[in-house]
Amino acid sequence: MSPLLQKIHTGILDTLFPLRCLGCGAPGHNLCSACLAAFPRRLKQRCPTCLKATTPRGETCFACTGIRSLDGLFAASLYRSPLVAETLHTYKYRFIPAFAEPLGTWLADRIIECDLPLPDIFIPVPLHPRRLRFRGFNQSALLAKALSDTLTPGLPIPVLAQSLLRTRYTKPQMKTESREERLGNLMNAFALAQNSEASIRGRSIWLIDDIATTGTTLEECARVLKNAGAKSVFGITLAR
Ligand SMILES: [Zn+2]
Ligand SMILES: [Zn+2]
Repeated sequence: MSPLLQKIHTGILDTLFPLRCLGCGAPGHNLCSACLAAFPRRLKQRCPTCLKATTPRGETCFACTGIRSLDGLFAASLYRSPLVAETLHTYKYRFIPAFAEPLGTWLADRIIECDLPLPDIFIPVPLHPRRLRFRGFNQSALLAKALSDTLTPGLPIPVLAQSLLRTRYTKPQMKTESREERLGNLMNAFALAQNSEASIRGRSIWLIDDIATTGTTLEECARVLKNAGAKSVFGITLAR
């Protein structure tokens, strides 16, 4: 959707459905500060591959290091919380990009708390162009931008939203039924954009996504980035 159409669309929605907090119904916000402060935090991180408990930063466990491309996954919240699930669902499937800002700010606070070393660049998990046209925005790219704006104010970490491409239109990972299907679904689904290697080689990267379920999407993206010479690739998601 063009920015103008988006504004008209948002204006119409605001008139028909005045803003109400998803959590408590308070007027004027999508998510009021009290509900955002009460957003559940994930207290234990798990290895992105084998799901064993790992460090508070979510580093890939010792046994999986070396066989996987993803160096870790920090998921700030819990998808099983109804407020989190409803917020992410509304953000993504009811097309409300305004959620990116409060969620990005909340995520930045969690990252500061756990003292994750900051990367050189952020790369949002890309959408297939067809899905991007339909939704009008990439929820991961907006989240990456909001995170970049609030994490290091005045000196934002660059967001490279064009260097990784989704080249195959795949079914959502949440709708796959087995590990084999998930892996097959994403096989060769991502590729590096032309002339992007120089911006990837030797860099430490955070891959940003809204939700991780099995970690397969992030792993596939990480594999492409490591093949292009990335120094490290860490997944950062709002929830898992
Ligand atoms: Zn509220
Ligand atoms: Zn592991």
